[in-house]
Amino acid sequence: MRLDVVTIFPEYLEPLNLSLVGKARARGQLDVRVHDLREWTHDRHNTVDDTPYGGGPGMVMKPEPWGEALDAVIASGDGEERPVVVVPTPGGEPFTQEMAVRLAERPWLVFTPARYEGIDRRVVEEYAREYELLEVSIGDYVLAGGEAPVLVMTEAIARLLPGVLGNAESHRDDSFAPGGMAGLLEGPVYTKPPVWRGRSIPEVLLSGHHGRIARWRRDEALRRTARNRPDLIAGRDPAAFDRDDRRI
Ligand code: SAM
Repeated sequence: MRLDVVTIFPEYLEPLNLSLVGKARARGQLDVRVHDLREWTHDRHNTVDDTPYGGGPGMVMKPEPWGEALDAVIASGDGEERPVVVVPTPGGEPFTQEMAVRLAERPWLVFTPARYEGIDRRVVEEYAREYELLEVSIGDYVLAGGEAPVLVMTEAIARLLPGVLGNAESHRDDSFAPGGMAGLLEGPVYTKPPVWRGRSIPEVLLSGHHGRIARWRRDEALRRTARNRPDLIAGRDPAAFDRDDRRI
């Protein structure tokens, strides 16, 4: 998968060299290219922003550097793949695990993290006409820039790519995953030692009985979801959370 990021703070994306994403890059599973938007400015001050039409506080990112940058990045493709342009903005549709799964299936994503009050609207209109373009929010709060949202989205997407996680099964039961846990939050997890500060792990986990363990995990997932995110189960058929434990 190829990921391009156009930003005025390329250093902000350095964590993409670390951990799981960094390893995926080193193994050639992920081709990440970070570009400095100011390379596509032509004045002495490398200006990327200007005052908003209609007045008001803050500055708006100018369309010309963004247009030149996106044209150049897209032209550097092999001509066969078409990118999905991902525009981080608090005004976008919510980024979810389901969206991460969909984007992980695409060969090429181009991220446009903004600063100030965002990018001149005409840029979104221009590229939405030619390409699949998603305006995406990572949550109901406002950050100073879109670089942190790009880090968040990249990590969520990269761990779903084939071969990136050591164990291909490990995201099957993750919170929100449509698979094993039917979109519930994952319940508690434990490791050795069996007793720590007088606290024992739940006995069922030592039983070796896969069916009972699976049922316990699902019960815990349901309990946590009902407590912390009742919206995830409201209106759903209870049968959706059940499965035949004899087959596990
Ligand atoms: N005035 C804008 C508004 O209220 O929608 C907020 C602009 S914000 C200060 C600057 C940039 O940070 C945005 O254009 C976007 O790239 C990024 N950003 C901030 N919060 C975000 C969020 N919750 N999700 C995705 N991107 C966000």
